[in-house]
Amino acid sequence: MKKKIAVVTGGAGFLGSHLCDKLISEDVSVICLDNLLTGRMENIEHLISNPDFQFIKLDVTNYIFVPGHVDFVLHFASPASPIDYLKYPIQTLKVGSLGTHKALGLAKEKNATFLLASTSEVYGDPLIHPQSEEYWGNVNPVGPRGVYDEAKRFAEALTMAYHRYHGLSTRIVRIFNTYGTRMRLDDGRALPAFISQALNGEDITVFGDGSQTRSFCYVSDLVEGIYKLLLSNESMPVNIGNPNEITIEEFAEEVIRLTNSKSKIIYQDLPVDDPKVRQPDITRAKEILGWSPKVSREEGLKLTLEYFRNAKK
Ligand code: UDP
Repeated sequence: MKKKIAVVTGGAGFLGSHLCDKLISEDVSVICLDNLLTGRMENIEHLISNPDFQFIKLDVTNYIFVPGHVDFVLHFASPASPIDYLKYPIQTLKVGSLGTHKALGLAKEKNATFLLASTSEVYGDPLIHPQSEEYWGNVNPVGPRGVYDEAKRFAEALTMAYHRYHGLSTRIVRIFNTYGTRMRLDDGRALPAFISQALNGEDITVFGDGSQTRSFCYVSDLVEGIYKLLLSNESMPVNIGNPNEITIEEFAEEVIRLTNSKSKIIYQDLPVDDPKVRQPDITRAKEILGWSPKVSREEGLKLTLEYFRNAKK
């Protein structure tokens, strides 16, 4: 049987690179596109000599040309941590809009299945809890986070239009907070920030009073869910995340405990439009994909800590 071929945009990023690994382990050849704005070659170094892997440095907001047959297009390119998309607001809007358009165009040309990496950020600062896919969200289009949230909302709308108008086979995954190996220690997210602060004996910077909640999913669980969604027939959005919810203050204490750190918590201003709660309702993922997360936060944090300890050297 002929090998399946997947194009992964943002394939050198944190999630994209894990997805490349997963696809290759499932005997799918991967063409990885990345402009390395926030992605890193070291995330895919181990794949470079693999005959099933090809890397092309490319900005997917421009025209994408890939020769030959393609079975899947997975659009993961985007700055994705709050400090990254605040640093690159225009690129974030462009990759979510123009980049999604180009990636959809490629999928249509190749008659491939398209999968969009969307986000829990489409729910904004949610007024219902936990968030199910039926919820339309509470997003401030002109706030600083709007560049990411609205780009992803537009990307979802465009994906559905290609599905409805062109009959393209499409999938939309709404990704909740995910962590694990290959995250950048300096990407500004709470989890790598707290771990690096704890390992360096620095103060742990909790924003606001720390009562806001998040629900952290380990990367291997996420990638498994995405792969199941890709192989399913589901065109409506599916939440993938771990419903185990924790306040940011409790999470800071957990990191201090796990690292045996002497760090103290300090409190800083809450960023504008920071969501007060976030927890995925994963009923649909369970029913449609038979998926639920397996890795506990303690287990996942141990693996991540080990990676960050080595990355420090
Ligand atoms: N946060 C924090 N200290 C930090 C970084 C983030 O308290 O050094 C908070 C942030 O305000 C938010 C939560 O931790 O309430 C999760 O933030 P993150 O940047 O990880 O991602 P988000 O879920 O907001 O996209």
